[in-house]
Order: sequence, then structure tokens, then C-alpha cells
Amino acid sequence: MEPKIIRAGDRQTKIAPAHNFVGQVLHESVFAEEAPSRLRVSRVTFTPGGRTNWHTHAVGQILYVLSGSGRYQLEGQPVEEINAGDTVVIPPNARHWHGAAPDSMMCHLALSEADDQGNGATWLEPVDDKDFMQEPA
Ligand code: MN
Repeated sequence: MEPKIIRAGDRQTKIAPAHNFVGQVLHESVFAEEAPSRLRVSRVTFTPGGRTNWHTHAVGQILYVLSGSGRYQLEGQPVEEINAGDTVVIPPNARHWHGAAPDSMMCHLALSEADDQGNGATWLEPVDDKDFMQEPA
């Protein structure tokens, strides 16, 4: 891990891949793990209706909502509304999804750690509209 400042303009913003996300989602890598650190930090912007597929993280994940209003669901639990300033703690290997609200964008920081194989997430099937459109708890 070398000392440095990664300047705002030097980071790439990419369209999040359609095989792991529904809708228009932008992904910016804030920091990607450099040994011995396994931390990765991403800023993810979901347009209204945009969300991740169902997925898990081997060593869990922390979300910090920067702006907007969104949705989050742990499998078997009600959909929760999440708003700017909220921190979401997601346990290791818990099936879940996160994204915008149907009628609002949402931007969050996502903090996770790579596992021994270098994977930060295991991606599963898309969240269908019936699950996504549930009224939040
Ligand atoms: Mn996640």
C-alpha cells in the first residue's frame, strides 16, 4: 500500500454491469484493496427503480447513504427504507439487495472486504418487481 491521494478526476465512473444490477446504476471506485488491506470502497448511484441483484458478501458490507432515498432488504425480512445519513450493517453471507426507491434516486458508499479469493460479492438472481415494489416497513 503506497501513500497517495487519488484525485477525484482520476477515478473512473462506470455503468454497473447489467448481469448484476437492474436499471441504470453508476459505480465509482473510491478505493480498491491494496495488500495488506482488503478494503474496497465504492460510491454507487442508483436511478429511480435501480437496484442490485440478490447477493452476499463473504465478510459482510457496510452501506452509508450519501443522498436520496432507497430500499434495502435482507432475505426473509421486510423491505426497509434507507435515507441520507443512514448506515446499514450487512452480516457475512446474508442474502440481500439494495437500491433506489421506485420514485427517487439513491447514492451510497459501499464498504466491503475481499475474501481469500479476492471476491467482494457473490451475485445471484435479479430482484423481481413484486419484491422491489413492497411497501417499506
Ligand atoms: Mn450488498
